[in-house]
Amino acid sequence: MKKYELMALPYAPEALEPVISKETIGFHHGKHLQAYVDNLNKLLPDSEYENMALEEIVRKAPAGAVFNNAGQILNHELYFLQFKPVGEAAQGPEGALAAQIEKQWGSVEAFKAEFEAKGVGLFGSGWVWLSADADRNLVITQEQGASNPVTKGLKPLLTFDVWEHAYYLDYQNRRAVHLAALWQVVDWSVIASRYDA
Ligand code: MN
Repeated sequence: MKKYELMALPYAPEALEPVISKETIGFHHGKHLQAYVDNLNKLLPDSEYENMALEEIVRKAPAGAVFNNAGQILNHELYFLQFKPVGEAAQGPEGALAAQIEKQWGSVEAFKAEFEAKGVGLFGSGWVWLSADADRNLVITQEQGASNPVTKGLKPLLTFDVWEHAYYLDYQNRRAVHLAALWQVVDWSVIASRYDA
């Protein structure tokens, strides 16, 4: 039987400071994500989802515990892997992704402004996403709870977690300040390779 394991972070827990503190990474990755992994491992045995890939579970499972825990694992893996330390993260898109953002938004700054606004405007817990459709057009979506753009047939590229656990220790209620700061650690080379894949 397939058993999920907590993903390893490709950086030290303090590597994203001052944008995301070591304490937040410790709770977010070590406690919250670990709990989703543990929950899914308890839910899967003898279910129809037992041998499915994570993304397939998220596409097929109805609303409920399996969907929520599988979705949160998929979401957090994409989230944590898109970051690099301040000063090391590629600060803007290049290549085909840069051209597509320019075509649809006019500038990276205009794209970022809409992305942040949709993150700030998402009521309650969830995620704001940049994804690509089958024609490689880009789309920003708000996903409630554990949802992921793969449920809409989209390819997820970039995401900001707006659950309070992602920022409350460092920013308290200031979600907008947190989201604006996150660009410093988004590694656009990761986002571009997801777009090109
Ligand atoms: Mn989270």
